[in-house]
Amino acid sequence: MLKIKVNNSVSDLRNSSSKYIDVEVNCKKSDTVIDFDYKNKFAYKPFINSHDHLISNWFPRSGNHLPYTNSHIWVEENKNSESFLERNKIWENNGDFDLLNENAKLIVKMGMYKNIFSGVHILQDHIKQQKPEYYKMFDIYVIEQFTQCHSIILGNWWGGSTAEEEMKHSKGIIPFIIHLSEGIDNVSKSEFNILLEKDLLRMNTLIIHGICLTKDELSKISEVGASVCWCPSSNMYLIGQTLDVLSALEKGVNICLGTDSTMTGGIHLFDEFKHAKRACNKITGQVLYQMVTKNAEKALFLNDQSILHNQNNLLILEQMHDDIYENLLYQEIDNIDLLIHQSKPIYGNLAYFELFNLNSNDYEIFKIGNKEKFIIGHPQLLNSQIDEILGYHKNFPFLPF
Ligand SMILES: [Zn+2]
Repeated sequence: MLKIKVNNSVSDLRNSSSKYIDVEVNCKKSDTVIDFDYKNKFAYKPFINSHDHLISNWFPRSGNHLPYTNSHIWVEENKNSESFLERNKIWENNGDFDLLNENAKLIVKMGMYKNIFSGVHILQDHIKQQKPEYYKMFDIYVIEQFTQCHSIILGNWWGGSTAEEEMKHSKGIIPFIIHLSEGIDNVSKSEFNILLEKDLLRMNTLIIHGICLTKDELSKISEVGASVCWCPSSNMYLIGQTLDVLSALEKGVNICLGTDSTMTGGIHLFDEFKHAKRACNKITGQVLYQMVTKNAEKALFLNDQSILHNQNNLLILEQMHDDIYENLLYQEIDNIDLLIHQSKPIYGNLAYFELFNLNSNDYEIFKIGNKEKFIIGHPQLLNSQIDEILGYHKNFPFLPF
């Protein structure tokens, strides 16, 4: 066990009596304390991506009739899109949505790397509940405790119980997650009332999108203490509009942030920060940081979990802006200096790899520009396995090689 001390961090990481934060690292080096000089780097809690579909992180984005008036039209059309059909060559869904299939694993692991390369260490994978082995195969924390429904109109076509049964199973102590109001037409506008009629707006409800939610509806969400996940890049691409995020914040709604999959969303969470700012110029870096940390912890019921202990998790980013929060809006994959999840270094500059004396069998080493990096696992090998099945090289924009 090795300890890192960091002295230039966001305030919620620091103990008031110390200017340092301590992070413990599991590695072959022991009983050492490293006191870094972090003049040009900032430390953060690693991020939480509150909405993704790991199996759908294929590229390019799909959609022949943009913008859509509601997402349900896209859900059907997507099944014949170029991107979807190309992904079918790797894994064709036989209708059971079992992602433990060998080829499905190739794709969902790629989705994991999309998240790691933008500082994410916890994510919500919106799909029917998978078998426990699924959640164990990742190098970051893919949330296992949740209930869900695809959407109030289409229901759980991808598996799982009815929305009402799923909510009942949640017992109010784990999140109930549902796409809602993802559009601007009357169908989308009717969805919030259906949610109310079915008694599904509760404290543990996490609404994904909420594009056409009115101020009154946002007040109701705030009153019950439910949460909304904002996905600006996906919304602007698919529908051409997004959640009224300023009204939602004004009403006190707990807002978290999600990338959605790359079939509709941006490239990764760093990209999402930029899309969020573009969609709403008044949003600050500090508010975005809250959305991907404490607001997400609340929405996803992570508050008491040991997974969040600050001494086990750390994200260090290069300083690209004087303000520690605004700095988030200027980040690219290669700006991650170090990402530690559960005391395990999972991505960072090669200097740390050598310093921690990490096991080279567990990592891949690669170069971005003149920076040498290490990454947990074997993403280049995964990419080549996909290439072998396709018969040509598939370029994923969220990978740095
Ligand atoms: Zn989604």
